[in-house]
Parts: sequence; C-alpha cells; structure tokens
Amino acid sequence: MEQPPYLVLLYYLYTDIADPEQYRDQQRALCEELGLLGRIIVAHEGINGTVSGLRADCEAYMKAMHADPVTAAMTFKIDEEPGHVFPKLSVKARREIVTLGLGSEDLSPNETTGKHLTPAEWKQQMSDPDAVILDARNDYEFDLGHFRGAIRPDIGNFKELPEWIKEHREELAGKKILTYCTGGIRCEKFSGFLVKEGFDDVNQLLGGIVEYGKDPEAKGENYDGECYVFDQRVGVPVNHVNPSIVSHCIHCGEKSSRYVNCAYPTCNAQHFCCKECEPKSLRYCCTDCQTADAQAKSDDPKATA
Ligand SMILES: [Zn+2]
Ligand SMILES: [Zn+2]
Repeated sequence: MEQPPYLVLLYYLYTDIADPEQYRDQQRALCEELGLLGRIIVAHEGINGTVSGLRADCEAYMKAMHADPVTAAMTFKIDEEPGHVFPKLSVKARREIVTLGLGSEDLSPNETTGKHLTPAEWKQQMSDPDAVILDARNDYEFDLGHFRGAIRPDIGNFKELPEWIKEHREELAGKKILTYCTGGIRCEKFSGFLVKEGFDDVNQLLGGIVEYGKDPEAKGENYDGECYVFDQRVGVPVNHVNPSIVSHCIHCGEKSSRYVNCAYPTCNAQHFCCKECEPKSLRYCCTDCQTADAQAKSDDPKATA
C-alpha cells in the first residue's frame, strides 16, 4: 500500500526566543519555501505550531528545526493524511504561545509545572481511586471526546480555566490531579498554575491525547469519542482498544461524531448533525436560525451565504 503523501505536524516548545518578530518572519519564509500551510505562534516564551505539507517538505521542516539550537529539543507529533488540512498559512508573534492570560502571575513551565506522565503511566494512574481526571480544554472539545470519567469544566476559552479552578477548589482539594489537553501544551502552563495555587499532586499527560492514541502501550484505551483538532479534520480517532462515540445528533439523538457549523452565518454554532439529518436540517442548528437566515436573505436579495 502506498504511503499517504501528506503529513500533519503538531508541536510546541517552551524555549527563549529573543526576538519573536524576527523569528516569526524566519518561520514564515521557511514555511513558504516548503509549501507548508497551518498556524504558528511565536512568543518570547517559545513556539507553538501545527502545519501540513508534502511528506518530504515536512521532513525538511523538522530537520531545519532540529538543526536550530533554539528548537533542537522539539518533539513532533506526526499524522499521515491524503492532503493539506489547512486552507492557508498564518504565522504570528504574540505575548503567549497559548493564552492563559495570567498577566503579572504568568509563569514559565520550564520552572513551574506539574509532573509529566508518559501515556503508559497515565493509563495506570487513571484507575487510582484518589485521582481526578481534569480536562483542560474547552467544552466543545470535551463534547466530541474525552477520557472516561473526566471532569468537564464548562469553559468556552482556555483563559476562563483559572477562574473555574478558583470556583471548584473544594472538590479538587487533596486529590491527585490528572490533567490533559490535545497535545500537551496547554497543560504545561495550566498545571504550573495548579502547583502555584497550592495543589500538591499535579500531573499532566505528556504529549496529550494525540500521543496517548499513538503510544504502542496505551493505544488510546479508555478514551471515549474522538479528539478535537483545530484543522479541517475537526476530529481524529484516538482509541484503538475500546472505542466509542459519546456525542449525539442534535436533531434525531442518534450517536454521531459529525461536527458541523450552523448554516446561518450570524449563528455559526458548531453542533453535532448526523449524515441522515443534514439534508433535512440544511445544516441549521435550529428552526429559528433557518427562519432568521431566510429573512436575512429576503431583506438582501444579493446576499449569498
Ligand atoms: Zn440525526
Ligand atoms: Zn444556528
């Protein structure tokens, strides 16, 4: 069987970048030269990226990163795909490589962070009766899939997580905290925040859900549903042992992992819609959106959605 021609790379590294603007320009030039598409964020504290490209071009990119002393320690998570999973390239310099927004309380995960668990260790620790599994992602990511028994903080943005912790401090006090996210980057800082807040048994999944699914020992066991990813695939499979579907079509209630956006541009809400219901619902999340969109189009006959 032929190898899929494209690769998708997911990576981050907390490392000192002296001049993020200059580094951004350098990254953009490298990606353009190699024809890579995706999203890269650069800050003084490091680099966070996900790109897709032809196999040889992605390999050249990884080689270039490993040859640069600043990013020599980078770990790449690699998926094989039939084509690009991003429509364009975006390379930005920001204050943080993931926005937790701690402001003056900001910390460096190279100094303060939770204990890293390998996928095999994580799999074992999940069954510890004193452990709480805490999802560090947003509610819509959790809804597509999550570790069995995990707590779902009802947040729509990572920046809201510190506040959520402060409100739920009591239920987490004295427990072994196991926190995880997609590829591990959010937990680096978030688990550091938990340590600073006084929780004394804070653990994070090294490499996140993505690595847990690829690990030859863990094989994604006891992860329910799919893993939400921020590209055109939306969801990727994780569990190769005891997979399940945890989400339901909002129209008929049948199990479905199909995430679509509401066809009414003003709403655009991401919702689960099975294949059968799509032609009936026309991708609207509710009849109100369908009515509102019809109204908007009749008010402005030139408008096309
Ligand atoms: Zn349905
Ligand atoms: Zn809607």
